[in-house]
Amino acid sequence: MNKRIEKLIYLGKLAEIVINETQAEKLIAYMDLLLERNKHINLTRIVDEDEFIKLHLLDSLTLLKLIKNPQTKILDVGTGGGFPGIPLAIMLEEADVTLMDSTKKKLSVVQSIASELGISNIKTLHGRAEELGQDHQHREKYDVVTSRAVANLTLLSEYCLPLTKVGGQFLSMKGRDYQEELNAAQIPIDVLGGKIAAIEKGLLLQSEYVHVIINVKKIKPTPNNFPRIHGKIKKDAFPISK
Ligand code: SAH
Repeated sequence: MNKRIEKLIYLGKLAEIVINETQAEKLIAYMDLLLERNKHINLTRIVDEDEFIKLHLLDSLTLLKLIKNPQTKILDVGTGGGFPGIPLAIMLEEADVTLMDSTKKKLSVVQSIASELGISNIKTLHGRAEELGQDHQHREKYDVVTSRAVANLTLLSEYCLPLTKVGGQFLSMKGRDYQEELNAAQIPIDVLGGKIAAIEKGLLLQSEYVHVIINVKKIKPTPNNFPRIHGKIKKDAFPISK
């Protein structure tokens, strides 16, 4: 077995993520092709393979323990180079994974690499989260909505909760200094129909957590006036007069 594949399986085991050989091969092949394409279009700043394995592949896979039903409809908001969506799609073959981004070029690269590797349970969706959240084809249609490194939690909740089905979950990956963002997002999450179910620890590296996962359950429908239009979300504070 290739050394890098062995390493990924081993590190996965340490992080309590079971990766089989076929899955590990695909994950590493995705890394190789993405790093190749990254020479021409900026998809990631992480170009060292060891770092890529940890900070992209394993970090994305920490979400697996929170996804209870493998036959699920997942939406990755602001997927960029395909994280965490592609590693999840490789591991959860029965899931139906939609990768969304506002940059079309990134999506076409991710789509073409996925097709080349035979990752067939993904589709790409070009657009802004706050517009797709008002589109009946997408609003409240996803069981699990994920997002990493896209926006602060208040903004992200307005992007992601309208797209989450009632009964579904919104999983946000945040840095260790998440507390302040979380405090600020408490009321917006409530208004948007969510309820914080748990704060889970993500990947542990050198005795520090790379991310925590904010696990938000969608408990009631999002009011029709959310998400607001782009200019309003960016400019105006979250309206919290309840
Ligand atoms: N999730 C990836 C990429 C993070 S970079 C990772 O963790 O590596 C943030 C990405 O979000 C960019 O590709 C950007 O185009 C996208 N993005 C930012 N705002 C967005 C919005 N409102 N709707 C959809 N995509 C958005």
